[in-house]
Amino acid sequence: MDHTDLYINGTWHKTADRFDVINPATEQVIASVASADIADANKALDAAAAAMADWAARTPRARSEVLRRAWELMTARLDDFAHLITLENGKASGDAKGEAAYAAEFFRWFAEEAVRADGMITHAPASGARIMVQHKPAGLAVLITPWNYPAAMGTRKIAPALAAGCGVIIKPASETPLTMLALMPLLEEAGVPPGLVNVLPSRKTGALVDHMLHDPRVRVVSFTGSTGVGRKLLKSAADQVLKPAMELGGNAPVIVFDDADMDIAIDGTMQAKMRNLGEACTAANRIYVHEAIAAEFTKRLTARMAALKVGDGTDSSVDVGPLVNADTRDKVAAFVADAVAKGAKVECGGVTPGGIGYFYPPTVLSGVPENADCVHDEIFGPVAAIQTFTDQDDVIRRANATEYGLVAYVFSGDFKRALQVCERLDYGMVGLNRGLVSDPAAPFGGTKQSGLGREGGHEGMLEFMETQYISASW
Ligand code: NAP
Repeated sequence: MDHTDLYINGTWHKTADRFDVINPATEQVIASVASADIADANKALDAAAAAMADWAARTPRARSEVLRRAWELMTARLDDFAHLITLENGKASGDAKGEAAYAAEFFRWFAEEAVRADGMITHAPASGARIMVQHKPAGLAVLITPWNYPAAMGTRKIAPALAAGCGVIIKPASETPLTMLALMPLLEEAGVPPGLVNVLPSRKTGALVDHMLHDPRVRVVSFTGSTGVGRKLLKSAADQVLKPAMELGGNAPVIVFDDADMDIAIDGTMQAKMRNLGEACTAANRIYVHEAIAAEFTKRLTARMAALKVGDGTDSSVDVGPLVNADTRDKVAAFVADAVAKGAKVECGGVTPGGIGYFYPPTVLSGVPENADCVHDEIFGPVAAIQTFTDQDDVIRRANATEYGLVAYVFSGDFKRALQVCERLDYGMVGLNRGLVSDPAAPFGGTKQSGLGREGGHEGMLEFMETQYISASW
């Protein structure tokens, strides 16, 4: 691996303390990575503060052109990034290429948004003053990312932060720090000045992040990961009243009505379930199928799931790579065992293979009872858990009966009914006759305990900006 050290102020820093990164398909160590401590965090904060002063003063167009160049460079190197993503995360090469392309798109989108930090001016209704509103860079941002999208969860934060004029320190997940480190030479080549973006892999995660969130120069904490860690970060962020952007867990329902186009419903459910082998906050977790079509839906979904090829993701014929680590694989197996013990039927898969690698087969469960653990918690793996319904109000109630509210999916041929159902779903995003909602141009985010704030779209850059209002007379 070319880059395994800390990236601070545009240079690579070795540390005595290091940790291993494992290829989940081979269980082999692929890199020994530097682990940042508090002294390193202080250097990164100093570098980011110094670089931000100049960067924030550049014109939006100048910032935009650097981001545009980052998109061009990354797009030219998608295969290299995809390969690295597969090595450290395990996902199949098709999924990894999809992620690399999605990750690069955030640079293009926010290159376009950088020049659109709209303000406004208007007459105050009564006082005669003018109300002038503008957006300014909020300050340094600490970005913390998960292992399931080692590139995209980083670029979805870096690109809007840079577009807004902020400097950043990124703490990538310890399972997958290599992709973010590999991105740094590309950003340099694109024209990102030294110090503006710093990467601190670390095994002392909690203390390191907590220290940075108490530095007075930091004004934003943007986190993607589990709801439990998100709650801890919100508590830390409260001490300095930081702007929080929290993309947390999900428990996505899929609702398939009996008037749905069956081909579209099967394709969409496959995509919502198996994109990233189910290791996605947007992954279909509970699949509610109208009783009248449940037998046919289950048969067809089972045939599609059973046909997927499982193996080392570097083999381009493989559809499903290993899960990221043994714990994640064992958690998925435990969800299946629990559901079966409570009465679910295994239609395909359901058995952990022996041998090397953290593999788990695509699995379909039918007749999943309401009290099964997988109905209430994120499966985060390739298990499709099917339940049935007959009544529209009842399925909406069941879909909403969770503390999460990230994304729901609805399949119906009756557009009027489908839109009425979408509006009653308490979710930040809904896929209507689609199994994919992620789009750099759309505001990604959830309600309830799935998070705060939005990434992508017009909203994404505003997460890194403060609104200033000037009351003026002339
Ligand atoms: P995680 O355990 O919460 O870890 C995410 C990141 O937080 C990692 O970089 C981790 O570092 C760091 N972290 C862990 N403990 C911390 C602490 N006490 N203080 C500060 N940072 C800490 O989540 P994960 O297992 O990697 O990812 C899976 C979760 O992410 C799922 O719940 C999924 O739904 C969610 N997710 C949400 C979205 C979304 O947009 N809503 C997208 C993707 C994933 P270490 O690796 O060093 O522990």
